[in-house]
Amino acid sequence: AGSVELIKTSKFYDSHRAVDGINLKVPGGSYCCLLGPSGCGKSTTLRMIAGHEEVSDGDILLDNRNVTSLSPRQRGTAMMFQNYALFPHLSCRDNVAYGLKIAGKSKAERYRAAEEMLELVNMGAFADKLPGQLSGGQQQRIALARALICRPDVVLLDEPLSALDPFLRVRMRKELKSLQQQLGLTFIHVTHSQEEAFALADLAIVMSDGRIEQSGHPRHIFEAP
Ligand code: ADP
Ligand code: ADP
Repeated sequence: AGSVELIKTSKFYDSHRAVDGINLKVPGGSYCCLLGPSGCGKSTTLRMIAGHEEVSDGDILLDNRNVTSLSPRQRGTAMMFQNYALFPHLSCRDNVAYGLKIAGKSKAERYRAAEEMLELVNMGAFADKLPGQLSGGQQQRIALARALICRPDVVLLDEPLSALDPFLRVRMRKELKSLQQQLGLTFIHVTHSQEEAFALADLAIVMSDGRIEQSGHPRHIFEAP
């Protein structure tokens, strides 16, 4: 489960080709890093996989199923953002449970699942805190728990570590990798950092100007850091 395939997928903004007919295959259970300079089309690619952005051309397959015209919820992917996007007035428990509210689960079910997810990211003791009472790394764990509560096969992360200080960044990247392996999920992680891709990825994809310039194991396409 969790394979992702793009077939000649493009996104045009007026006449500008933000993503220009890319072909991409991410096997289920891989940790994929998407790299490249600012403006090369990484976020647009991620948003098209999630279904937050319509494709202009081409197809998107999840587990060999064509999902190009499906909504984000129907696709069963989860997205996690740089700024965490937590609700400041809701407790951590309610922030995590929120994903299930939309799915129509009872409050008892939502809270039971939220507690379980909070334990998974080592934040069980913080269920009643507000996001503002937490450190950056802790808020990121809550955002991850919120993304995982819908049991996605594919998790899409847009520069999830870039708001953290360097010490926390290294620690959180270990936690991301260990969670991805433990749960057997596919992660597609946008980053500017080759070092991050080296530490995390089984598959690194380097984009440039809307196209894929290189792809492979980071050992094979980058110099060791
Ligand atoms: P990256 O994530 O690699 O920094 P993006 O995917 O955000 O790149 O953007 C790719 C290109 O598409 C950039 O030139 C950007 O300015 C353009 N772009 C992104 N979103 C929009 C939009 N909503 N409207 C117009 N142009 C956009
Ligand atoms: P990134 O962190 O990926 O580089 P940006 O800061 O470039 O993202 O873009 C943030 C938001 O602005 C995105 O939702 C993107 O779609 C939108 N955007 C980016 N470039 C343009 C553009 N040229 N015109 C309109 N919207 C844009």
